[in-house]
Amino acid sequence: MTSTKLDMSCRVCGSRDVELFLDLGDQPHCNRLIPPEMADRREPFFPLRTGFCRACTLVQIDHTIPKEDMFSDYPYVSGTTRTLVAHFAETSARLVERYGLSETDLVVDIGSNDGTWLKQYRPFGLRVLGVEPAANVVALARAAGVPTENAFFNKETAERVLAEHGQASLMTAAGVFFHLEELHSVVEGIKVLLKEDGVFCVQAIYLGGMIENTAFDQIYHEHLCYYTLRSLEELFRRHGLEVFDVSVVPIHGGSLEAHVGWAGRRPASDAVHALRAEEERRGYGRIETYQAFAENVWRLKRDLLDVLEAARRDGKTVYCYGAPAKGATLLNSFGIDTRLVQLATEKSPLKFGKMIPGARIPIVDEATVPPPDAYLVLAWNFLDEFLGKERRFLEGGGQFIVPVPRLRVVTAADLPATVRETAAARL
Ligand SMILES: [Zn+2]
Repeated sequence: MTSTKLDMSCRVCGSRDVELFLDLGDQPHCNRLIPPEMADRREPFFPLRTGFCRACTLVQIDHTIPKEDMFSDYPYVSGTTRTLVAHFAETSARLVERYGLSETDLVVDIGSNDGTWLKQYRPFGLRVLGVEPAANVVALARAAGVPTENAFFNKETAERVLAEHGQASLMTAAGVFFHLEELHSVVEGIKVLLKEDGVFCVQAIYLGGMIENTAFDQIYHEHLCYYTLRSLEELFRRHGLEVFDVSVVPIHGGSLEAHVGWAGRRPASDAVHALRAEEERRGYGRIETYQAFAENVWRLKRDLLDVLEAARRDGKTVYCYGAPAKGATLLNSFGIDTRLVQLATEKSPLKFGKMIPGARIPIVDEATVPPPDAYLVLAWNFLDEFLGKERRFLEGGGQFIVPVPRLRVVTAADLPATVRETAAARL
C-alpha cells in the first residue's frame, strides 16, 4: 500500500508523522441540514481525510471546520433519544454512589446540550452547571431548569466558572470530547476547575469499537479525534491528569468511559491494565490495522450499493430511518442520493422540511408518510429501540437495511435472531 502523509501536525502530540489511511472525499458539514430556502444553492464541501499518528497513535481528521460554524446552532437534542436518557440516568446514579457525592458538590457537564444528563442528578440534590455553546439548546436547558453557561468550554471559561461557582467534584463530557478544536485548552480547563481529588468522567466513541464494527460513519467533520485508551492517556498525561479507570459501554455502538483524576492521586485499575494489553494485542497502535479497516469500508460500499440498486430495479421504495449526522457520512461517502433513497423520516421537528446535506434527501415527519418497502437504518446503534418500535412494520412485510456493523437485510423472520445477535455484539 502506498504511504501518504497528511499535511498536518498531530492534534495531541504535534508530530508531523500523520499517515492518511481513509479518504472519504469532499463532504458537506453533516449536521448543517439544508433548509428549503437554500435548496437551489450548493452547500460548501470540505475534505474528509482520516490519518494515524505514528508517534502517539491518535487517529484524527486533518480538516477543521471552525467550531463557531459547527456548534453555534445545533440540531441534535439529546432528550429526543430514549436510549440516551436511560444511559445518562444509569451513569449519573453510578457516579454519585461511587464517588460519594452530596449536596455541597458541584457537577459540571461540558457540551451539556439540552441538559439531559444534568437533569439526572436532581434526585441527589447536587449543584449542577452545564457549559454549552449552542444558544438554541441552551434555551431548552434553561427552560427545563438546568443552569447553563452559553460558551465553549476552554481554559478561560473554566477560570470564569471557578470564580463564580468554585471547584467541581465531578466533571463530565459525553459525546463531545472528539469535537474539540481547542483540545489542549479544554484539558487545561479541566485541570483548573477540577478539585484535586475530583473526577472527570469522559465518554467518547471508542475507536476500537469503530474498527471492530467497520463504523466509519462515526467519521465526520465534528469529530476531529478518535480515541483508543492509549491515545487518550497520551493527551491527559500532557496536562498533569491521568486515566485511573476505564470501561467500554454499549452506547453509540461502543464508547469509552474513562475516569480521569489529577496525576498520581489514584492507582490505575485492573481494567486500565487489561484494556492497554487488549489494544496492544488488537494492533491499535499499528498503521496496518487502519489500512485493513479502510478496505472493509470499501467492501461495505460495494455490498450496500448492490442491495440498493436491486431494490431500485424491483421498484421498491427505500427511506432513511432517521437523519442522524453519521448518516450523512455514509450516504455521501458511498454516493447514495434520491435515486436510491427517496426520503428520510424523522421524529425531531427541528429537522422537518430540511434535506440531508450532500445527498439532498428530503427529511419528513415520520407520522406524515406511509411506510416504505424498506428502511435504510443510519442510526444502527439504536437498532434495538427501532426493532421494538417497528415490529408491525416488519411483520407487515417491511425490511430494515442495516449497513453497520455488517450489511444485513432484517425482516420479521429474522427478528428474534437479530435481537439476540445485537445483544451478543455488545459484549
Ligand atoms: Zn500524535
